[in-house]
Amino acid sequence: MQASNDRAGIRAEGAHSPAAGLLRCRGLVKSFAAVKALRGVDFAIDASRVRGLVGENGAGKSTLVKIIAGVYAPDAGTFDLEGRPMHFSGADDALARRIVTVHQDINLIQTMTVAENLLLNNEPTYGFGVIRRRAMADKVSQLLRLYEIDVDPDAVVSELPNDLKKMVQIVKGVSLDPKILILDEPTSSLTESEVQVALRLIRRLAESGVGVVLISHYLNEIFAVCDDLTVMRDGEVVADGPVAETSLTKVVTAMVGRHVETQRRAAAPRQKGASAPLMRVEQLCIPGRLDAINFELGHGEVLGITGLAGSGLGELAKAIFGAEASGRLGGRVFIEDILVPPRDPAASLKAGLALITGDRRREGLLLDFTLKENICLPILSRFTGAAGSLDGSAMTEATARNITRLHIRAPGPEALASQLSGGNQQKVLFAKWLETRPKVFVMEDPTIGIDVGAKAEIRAIIDEIAAAGVGIVLITTELEELVTLCDRVLVMFRGQLVTELTGTAIRRESILHAAACGEELAVPA
Ligand code: ADP
Ligand code: MG
Repeated sequence: MQASNDRAGIRAEGAHSPAAGLLRCRGLVKSFAAVKALRGVDFAIDASRVRGLVGENGAGKSTLVKIIAGVYAPDAGTFDLEGRPMHFSGADDALARRIVTVHQDINLIQTMTVAENLLLNNEPTYGFGVIRRRAMADKVSQLLRLYEIDVDPDAVVSELPNDLKKMVQIVKGVSLDPKILILDEPTSSLTESEVQVALRLIRRLAESGVGVVLISHYLNEIFAVCDDLTVMRDGEVVADGPVAETSLTKVVTAMVGRHVETQRRAAAPRQKGASAPLMRVEQLCIPGRLDAINFELGHGEVLGITGLAGSGLGELAKAIFGAEASGRLGGRVFIEDILVPPRDPAASLKAGLALITGDRRREGLLLDFTLKENICLPILSRFTGAAGSLDGSAMTEATARNITRLHIRAPGPEALASQLSGGNQQKVLFAKWLETRPKVFVMEDPTIGIDVGAKAEIRAIIDEIAAAGVGIVLITTELEELVTLCDRVLVMFRGQLVTELTGTAIRRESILHAAACGEELAVPA
């Protein structure tokens, strides 16, 4: 299948000694309150082999890895290391047995230099603990050279870009001389050439005898570099075996499982009535993050855009809107053929663009203000009389109208935003931007972190807004939302739009496959 790509050569076929069992877990169970994160998991790590660990978010990958790293104790299950039953009472226990984990978050000390971080708890010393500066510098340059990393050892970590921080973090893990090395999504913040370096490093470690576990959503990396593969879903292992005996399609199908496809929205593409597109986005780019993004949006269309962490998805909304900090540096946005001035949120609003960001607590609502203040803030001019005084009762009326229309559960217009549940806060945000009468509504993760009932209500609101002719750009990683709500779905991969799905082609498998591999599913079912 698509497994063979430019990276496939990294794997040295048949170069392995027969599997030597390093670590075996059997029947691992772990719950967090009512959530069963692991429901009886068997997992093995062998010397000289790389095992891929994949599964959708929430499948239980990190929990499994944290048990192996000694961070969590399992509720049930056994665990042996090189044939001997083992019990870890903390992360230090695992480290002492040379089980090293490179966690997903960057956990370097930001105020220290690269060299200091690399040698932390590992410094060569003279008798009284005086660090031998020379030896330290030598050891660090040796490490960096060995692992092909072009970074100044004296650079302060906080000043490095994320990709270099990640590389330093990986090298630090490797420098601890692991017997087992676990990498939790190491490549999502790396550039293409760094990914190559990291994958080569992983192969090299395996060839020198280390047992490696690689968690990645990028299935092409998994196929290029792994010998074995474990697929998890809902706290269970659903597929396990040598990579050579499976295929991308089988893996994606195992990850997704059997979902009852929810009713798709009626989706008579309403935009067909209007000839010209409502919005055109041309050559949108942020160096290193977004690479020449082009798309059109129709009247009343719900356009889903999705991708993995690191795909550029997180930068897209603000780039379209022209928010200052991550403002688009290149490219143009037109609404009804009129150019929206770049890097000017006020002008974007005026042109008919509204944005709901994924971080409603920091960027959306003023929590200490009333619903009335929150909703009427962007449109104060509408309530300002000739003498410059605000018409309070008109504001109250507008707010009450929104409370009714969007079914916001709140005591009234004077309630504080902070008193509302997450779902109702999100509805207040919708009300606030709807009052600006947008032509195009860009939404980032509009239902993230809110309960199931409120999610359904917000989806119904989105449907209703689209039915009224507003064009919607729905930026989300929720497959459910893409499948049920969108007329069209675009998938991002490493800064580019790689796939467009419409109608019945909008399926979980196809979306996941494109996001993970940067290409379309070969055999549409
Ligand atoms: P993955 O790494 O595959 O995305 P996780 O192991 O992080 O999955 O999570 C598995 C499940 O356990 C999820 O439902 C998650 O919400 C839950 N979970 C993980 N860690 C905790 C925690 N510390 N407290 C409560 N729930 C947790
Ligand atoms: Mg995880």
